Amino acid sequence: AQAPQVPAKDVKQPGSPPLPRQNAKVTPPSPPKVIVDKNRTVQYVRVGMLGEGGFARVYEVKDRAGARSACKVVTKSSLKTKKAKTKLYAEIKIHRALQHPNIVSFQDCFEDEENVYMTLELCHNGSLMDMLRRRRRFTEPEARFFMVQLIGACHYMHTHQVIHRDLKLGNIFLDSHMNVKVGDFGLAALIENPGERKKTICGTPNYIAPEVLFDTANGHSFEVDTWSIGVILYTLVVGRPPFQTKDVKAIYKRIRDNEYEFPADRAVSDEVQELVQLILTPNPQERPTLHQIVDHDFFANGIIPGYIPTSAHDAPPDFR
Ligand code: ADP
Repeated sequence: AQAPQVPAKDVKQPGSPPLPRQNAKVTPPSPPKVIVDKNRTVQYVRVGMLGEGGFARVYEVKDRAGARSACKVVTKSSLKTKKAKTKLYAEIKIHRALQHPNIVSFQDCFEDEENVYMTLELCHNGSLMDMLRRRRRFTEPEARFFMVQLIGACHYMHTHQVIHRDLKLGNIFLDSHMNVKVGDFGLAALIENPGERKKTICGTPNYIAPEVLFDTANGHSFEVDTWSIGVILYTLVVGRPPFQTKDVKAIYKRIRDNEYEFPADRAVSDEVQELVQLILTPNPQERPTLHQIVDHDFFANGIIPGYIPTSAHDAPPDFR
């Protein structure tokens, strides 16, 4: 059974870990077929739907020259509260400042009467979550390829004082060359003063670091992304997240108790097991740095493919 993947976004309840929101889903009207940025006389034609997230819908759009992008649409009716506006502005401010080959590039942002639009680099090959569903699990060379790019993106964010706080397979997209593009900065936080700690409980249950849930007095920082990277590595090679279980409370209990194991029936190398164990260290101060992670034997002693063929969507590539 799949545990809920609903992001527990922004639940501020010190002492009691967040439960997924029970959204009464109302489908907002579709954005216009031709989306116009009046200020710059730019227009995009909506050509398809890409997906739906917590509070946005994402469409594939085409500009006048035929160039395709993803367009994230947030209805203004969902921005009535000051808090909702502040969150969207934070997402835009953080995302548009980041430029890295493994981060979805932020192109443009504008509005009309009904909606706020963000145009983003289009990721043709969906998310790692979609791909895992088809493949069930990845080979270790593939995991090394995806992880190196993910860690590069994460290192870049951290050196720019940004914590992503929602790294998970569903937020890791693949471009047409199967390169990693980290997206969805909806929960990202900017660390404005050195040593500053964040207190908002947020993330997605399977990927939340223990200090977010259980050390609300001290708060959390960059190491929460490192934890998620450990969960992601496990999930890539095993095929399901380490703390996954039937209900969210039980997931949190397993995170608190650091309770996970590698399935006996699947051949997962000792190097992966050791690296996951190192990363999933409960004390954030004792967790390895991103540099230490890429220096681990898992990366040093195995093949890192130069690229992943698109055939990998359906079958494991042979990297020998
Ligand atoms: P939210 O912030 O509301 O959770 P996301 O940014 O996660 O929204 O986007 C929701 C869905 O839209 C994703 O799961 C994915 O299917 C699709 N999507 C988002 N960004 C892109 C992109 N740049 N290229 C292709 N598809 C995308």
